[in-house]
Amino acid sequence: MTEESWERCRELVERAASIVVFSGAGISTESGIPDFRSPTGLWTRVDPMSLTFDRYVEDREVRRTSWRMRREFFASDPQPNAAHRAVAALERSGRSPGTITQNIDGLHQTAGSTRVVEVHGTARTVMCIGQHPRDGEPDGCGFGAPVQWAFDLIDAGDDDPWCPSCGGLVKSSTVSFGQALFPSVVREAEALARDADLLIAVGSSLQVYPAAGLPSITLAYGGQVAIVNAEPTPFDDEASVVVRGRAGDVLPAVLPR
Ligand code: NAD
Repeated sequence: MTEESWERCRELVERAASIVVFSGAGISTESGIPDFRSPTGLWTRVDPMSLTFDRYVEDREVRRTSWRMRREFFASDPQPNAAHRAVAALERSGRSPGTITQNIDGLHQTAGSTRVVEVHGTARTVMCIGQHPRDGEPDGCGFGAPVQWAFDLIDAGDDDPWCPSCGGLVKSSTVSFGQALFPSVVREAEALARDADLLIAVGSSLQVYPAAGLPSITLAYGGQVAIVNAEPTPFDDEASVVVRGRAGDVLPAVLPR
């Protein structure tokens, strides 16, 4: 069964002119970053509702906790694994117009991928979200900086950094729970999903919408979907192949180098 599904996945890859990898938190667990929904995922330790966009806006303590968590994350210096490297090699082979990721860790880029559509933003930078953001909509002045900018201020004693241009709130450029997705990024992801002959969803529980709707777009436009995941997903029945395994084992074995 395992060998059959790996072989079938290789065949689909071979036949597809345009391949798009759609990755989730599971592609980075082998880099030591916990996912959310696995039995050992982050949600077993942190209450997601304590980290919503509105709570961030309202509560200085939530902002301080968020900066502390970001700091710890970057201090652990996570590195790309074999799966990220296989995705970068796929792009270099000329068979992929880009990668879509739900991850905020930037590891696809560190591995060498150059066109990465980050549907939930990135933890590598920060942005102004304005003085009165409401209903999950950032309302910033356009200020942005590398995340180190915030860490430097925190080190200098300012543990709740504000925008130097307009005095608004500053937040990591990620999409929090209760926060609207960035429309231009969603459009870019949808275009990649629509034009893919084969979309490979890897390391995602396919439960977080609207990102989890991308495989349906590929199918609706006549493409095929492959799923590489450690556990079952609600989309398994619609996929042309489901490979149950670790991303770092499967992707190097099925993707062109
Ligand atoms: P999820 O936690 O809902 O699902 C992850 C899936 O990956 C699970 O089904 C799990 O069985 C599978 N998995 C775990 N390790 C694997 C491995 N080595 N190989 C193959 N499969 C593996 O993650 P999601 O669907 O991406 O949704 C969660 C949201 O959390 C995303 O939107 C993302 O923004 C965010 N998140 C990101 C990071 C990150 O940037 N690395 C980490 C945690 C959460």
